[in-house]
Amino acid sequence: MTQTPTPPRKDLPQIVIVGGGYTGVCLAVQLVRQSRQALAITIVEPRAQLGQGMAYSTRDPDHRLNAPAFVHTALPQDAWHFTRWCQAQGLHTQDPEAWRPDGARYMRRSDFARYLADTLQAHAQGAANGCHITHCQDEATDALRTSSGWAVHTRAGQVLPADMLLLATGNPPLRLPAPFAPQWATHPAVIENAFDAPRIRAIDRQARVLVLGGGLTSRDVLASLLRQGHQGPIVVTSRRGLMPRPQAPALPVLSQIDLPGVLDALPGGVLLDRLANPVPEFLQQVGRPFNVRALLRALRQRIRQVEAEGQSWFQPFDEMRDALWQLWPQLPLLEKQRFLKRLRVWYDVHRYRSVPHTDDWVQQACDRGQLQFRAGRVQSVQSAASGHGMQVSLQTAAGSGCSSEVFATLINCTGLDTAAGMAGDPLLAALTVQGHVRLDDCHLGLAVDANCCALAADGQAQPDLRVFGPTTLGTFGDPMGAMFIAGHVYRIVPDVLRHLQRGGLNPGK
Ligand SMILES: Cc1cc2nc3c(=O)[nH]c(=O)nc-3n(C[C@H](O)[C@H](O)[C@H](O)COP(=O)(O)OP(=O)(O)OC[C@H]3O[C@@H](n4cnc5c(N)ncnc54)[C@H](O)[C@@H]3O)c2cc1C
Repeated sequence: MTQTPTPPRKDLPQIVIVGGGYTGVCLAVQLVRQSRQALAITIVEPRAQLGQGMAYSTRDPDHRLNAPAFVHTALPQDAWHFTRWCQAQGLHTQDPEAWRPDGARYMRRSDFARYLADTLQAHAQGAANGCHITHCQDEATDALRTSSGWAVHTRAGQVLPADMLLLATGNPPLRLPAPFAPQWATHPAVIENAFDAPRIRAIDRQARVLVLGGGLTSRDVLASLLRQGHQGPIVVTSRRGLMPRPQAPALPVLSQIDLPGVLDALPGGVLLDRLANPVPEFLQQVGRPFNVRALLRALRQRIRQVEAEGQSWFQPFDEMRDALWQLWPQLPLLEKQRFLKRLRVWYDVHRYRSVPHTDDWVQQACDRGQLQFRAGRVQSVQSAASGHGMQVSLQTAAGSGCSSEVFATLINCTGLDTAAGMAGDPLLAALTVQGHVRLDDCHLGLAVDANCCALAADGQAQPDLRVFGPTTLGTFGDPMGAMFIAGHVYRIVPDVLRHLQRGGLNPGK
C-alpha cells in the first residue's frame, strides 16, 4: 500500500474515501474491480492499518466475529473469499477454538482485519485497469466545493482534490449516557469506552464491576474480563434486561468445508442472492403502505407456521432482515419512529446474536453466581464515600425498587449513537454547517437517496458526495453488518462509476 507523501497520479479521476474501516476497504476494492478506467483512489484514515475501524481493531483473541466466517467477506460476489484466506493462513491449526461442534467457525476479529488489509493490498497497485489506492494516514477535517469537485482538508494540513468524495466514517465513539454528566467520563472508576483494552486489562481482578448495556459490546467486555481471570462480582444492567439471542445452528455444509473440493463447489454469489431477493411473500401479503404492526403480525404468523413444521424463528426473521433495506424506505416516518421507540430493542437482540464462545463463558459465570443481569436504569451516581469507586442508584425496570450499590469500576457499553457521533467528527460537522449534508428524518445518521448520494440541507441529491455504512442507518434500516455493507457497496459502485465516466458535475457546482 502506497502511503502519502507519494502523491496519487493527478492525471486520473480522483476519488477520496474518508474512513478506512471495513466500509472504506470494501469501497476501494469494488471500485478497482468494477472500474473500466484508471482511478486514483485515496483513503483518508488516521489509523496505521486499513480495514480495522472500530469493529476490527481489537487485538483481544476472545473478540470474535458474531456470525460464521462466510457472511464476512470483502467480496460479496465471493462469499467464501475469507474462508479460503483462513485456510491458506492455516488458521484451522492456529485457532482451533474458532470451530464449533456444528461446523460453524467464528474467527477472531483481529484475523478478519488482517484479511481485509491483505485483500486491499492485493488491489492497491498495478490493477490491469490502472487503478491504484493510496493511504493518507490523516484525519479529514473539512471539505470545500471547488470548480472541479472537492478539496478535502486534513488535520496535518494536506489538501486532497477529489472528483468524488465518499464518506465511510462509520461508528461513532461510545459515550456515557444520561444521567452521567460529562465529567464522569474522566473519573478514574469509569471506563467510558468499552474498547479501551489497556484499561479493561488493568481492572483489579477482585473489583466489583458494573457493565452498562447488555448488547454485543458488553459481551466483548465480559469475554475479556472472564478470560483474564476476573473473580469479583459483575453486574450487567440494561433498560429491559434483554439479552442477545444465540446464533442459528450452522448450515450442514459448514462441517465439511475443509474436505477437498467442497469449498470450490459452493456458489460464490450466495450473499448477493440473499440480498437481491424480493421482499418475502409473507411480508408482501400485508399490503401497502406497510405499517409496523402488520409486518410484526405477519412475521409472528410465519414463525408459528415454520415452528409447526419443525423449524425455528431464525429463517423468517433472517428473511425479513435481509429485505429490510427494501422495506424500511417504504415505511412512513411515523411508523419508523414507532418502530424505533417500541421495537428496535427487540429487533436488536434477535438481530445481533451472541458469539457461542462468549455464551459459554457467560453461562459458567452466571452458574457460579459471579455474574448477574439486571433490568433497570441508573438513576443517580456519585463518588463512593470511601473515595474509591462510585455509589450507583439502580432503579429496576418495573419501577418497583431502587438499590444503592458501590462499584469499583463502571464500564460503558452503550451509546453507539451515530447522530451524536457526527457532531464530534470534524468533517461531518463542517459538511453539515456548509449545508452539504443533513440528518435523515429519523435522526439516526445522514440523509441519502437510494444510490447513497448525500442529501444537502435543501434536499438536493449530490452524486459526487456519497455516504456508506452505519451512517446510512436512518435511510436503509439496517446497514450495519459486514454482509449488508459489502452488498450495498457492490450494488451502488456502478452508479458511482457511471457518474465519474460522464465527468458529471454536481448541479450545485
Ligand atoms: C465492536 C463491533 C463489532 C462488530 N462486529 C461485527 C461482526 O462480527 N460482524 C459483522 O457483520 N458486523 C460487525 N459489526 C458491525 C460493523 O459496524 C461493520 O461490520 C463495519 O465494521 C463498519 O465499518 P465502517 O468502516 O463503516 O466503520 P468503522 O469500523 O467505525 O470505521 C470507520 C473509520 O473511519 C475513520 N474516520 C472517521 N471519521 C474520519 C475522518 N473525519 N477522517 C478520517 N477517517 C475518519 C475512523 O478512524 C474509522 O477507522 C461490529 C461493530 C462493532 C462496533
